[in-house]
Amino acid sequence: MTLHLHILIWISGYWSPQRIREKLCGEDNDFKRELIEYLESCQTGSFLTGTIDQVKERVMPLDGSPSYDPTVALPRAPPKTACNDFTTCDCELCGAVRHWVNVTFPSTVDNIVYRSNRHKCFMQKDGCINKDGVCTARFPRPIFQETVVDKDGRIALKKLESSINTISPVISYGFACNTDATSLSSGTAVAATAGYVTDYLVKMGVKTHQIFSSVYDVFERNPDVWTESKSRSDAARRLILKMANSLTSKMEIGGPMAAMYLIGNPDHYSSHSFVSFYWKSVTT
Ligand SMILES: [Zn+2]
Ligand SMILES: [Zn+2]
Repeated sequence: MTLHLHILIWISGYWSPQRIREKLCGEDNDFKRELIEYLESCQTGSFLTGTIDQVKERVMPLDGSPSYDPTVALPRAPPKTACNDFTTCDCELCGAVRHWVNVTFPSTVDNIVYRSNRHKCFMQKDGCINKDGVCTARFPRPIFQETVVDKDGRIALKKLESSINTISPVISYGFACNTDATSLSSGTAVAATAGYVTDYLVKMGVKTHQIFSSVYDVFERNPDVWTESKSRSDAARRLILKMANSLTSKMEIGGPMAAMYLIGNPDHYSSHSFVSFYWKSVTT
């Protein structure tokens, strides 16, 4: 379990997934092309500069020579230019910006994704393969050579690499760590994600029944802990550690709430202002 962050971005004023789906089923091919172009720029499940082997050769040179590791460095900002259009300007600075956009950015993103997002299934303890032999992290992911829109307006975005999840290049570059970005293309998916994120936001103290249920789950999930451990006390220690981890994950508060307290902002927003009302002083 590692500290992580969930974000849901809703573009204000944007169409509903249903309306987009209807439009995709229509005749407007320009709309289809532009929407697909936009989505492919936001979310990709492929490397930007080539195949996984080509990226590997660059990131982990065979001769063992050291290569730049962007996951242990802060992201480098692009050069600044005051010119109006760097794409056509001839000055040296604009040339440097173009190089950043066309070379530095995509190769750094691939470097980060290669180091942080590759998934390799493994069977051992805490592995991703469940008892039915299926990867619980849903790998390998299906490949799509091209983005396709089916007759119901469902989009399957182009994806060329089965061992990585989908990412947003800008987010990968900025965070330089493992990230996962998906465009939500149905109302159900939006609602499910909103529910999931809200669950984190409002997660407060753990209820007694949850404590017992977590303890029970740890016993259920580790039937072999006695045979796998060196001694009985080692087994007990491992079980208690697992229980503590499971309980802390249920107690953690959301990033937004932690940030609010740290920077001294309120932990809630409302359309009205309310007067504090202390129930206790009324009843006693
Ligand atoms: Zn210029
Ligand atoms: Zn797996």
